[in-house]
Amino acid sequence: MPELPEVETVRRGLEPAMVGARFTKVTQRRPDLRFPFPERFTERLEGQEVTALGRRAKYLLADLSSGEVLVMHLGMSGRFLVTQGGTTRMPGEFHHEHGGLGAHDHVVFQLSNGAAVTYNDARRFGFMDLVPRSAIETSKHFAGMGIEPLGNELSGETIARLFAGKRTPLKAALLDQRLIAGLGNIYVCEALFRTGLHPEAPAGSLVTKKGEPTDKAYQLADVIRDVLTEAVEAGGSTLRDHAQVDGSLGYFQHSFRVYDREGEPCATPACTGTVARLVQSGRSTFYCPECQKRSRT
Ligand SMILES: [Zn+2]
Repeated sequence: MPELPEVETVRRGLEPAMVGARFTKVTQRRPDLRFPFPERFTERLEGQEVTALGRRAKYLLADLSSGEVLVMHLGMSGRFLVTQGGTTRMPGEFHHEHGGLGAHDHVVFQLSNGAAVTYNDARRFGFMDLVPRSAIETSKHFAGMGIEPLGNELSGETIARLFAGKRTPLKAALLDQRLIAGLGNIYVCEALFRTGLHPEAPAGSLVTKKGEPTDKAYQLADVIRDVLTEAVEAGGSTLRDHAQVDGSLGYFQHSFRVYDREGEPCATPACTGTVARLVQSGRSTFYCPECQKRSRT
């Protein structure tokens, strides 16, 4: 499943092909993906210019000259292919031959700059919607959504405000999309490891009795931003369902320090610990019992 850094990588890859261009023709090959396409989907896009391409959590947001926003979510296996000047690339990491429409190419955007952007989604957990810009924050996709972890909102103070008094385990609190939006399992494991925080420690343990952030809260905010930024810079990770067409996986997964490394020696210099796995809310948490002791929280 694409995580936030991959979605940001895709955004950066699509931006030059889409922003400033008009949709000259939109081909929609199915009535639905995970959800039905909005009414008159192709007509509402054709003729409109893309004025900006943004991202909120794991959603891509294309602002249109009509005042609507094209909301796009990649689901489990969605990907975009950009064809321009005779070559096709998948933002942002590999090139391949792409002749004609494939079985899972569900939407094609032809743009006034000559680019074709194809949305491919084998499992169809992705979706697209059209929402007025003025109603975006209150729309079903974004109402109640937590803060953006790559933005300026994330700080020690914010963590203190969000986590104060919470007995929820840190892992669960960080995955709670109503608090912080778009953080997935991999990056939560990495961030807790780098901060030396036990995944089962109560979220409220990062807040003093006076409601102020602890040193670890400040550190966690910085580390979350670091792990996400590093992943964006590495081109996003590509795991399992998001395997490239040639079957190979993205390179960034090899630099995870703790994720999926159960039984391996801890990556912290001089630590003699072994990476352990526990299951929280049905999902695997990887951590080093030596570096991430409960008593340190
Ligand atoms: Zn360790």
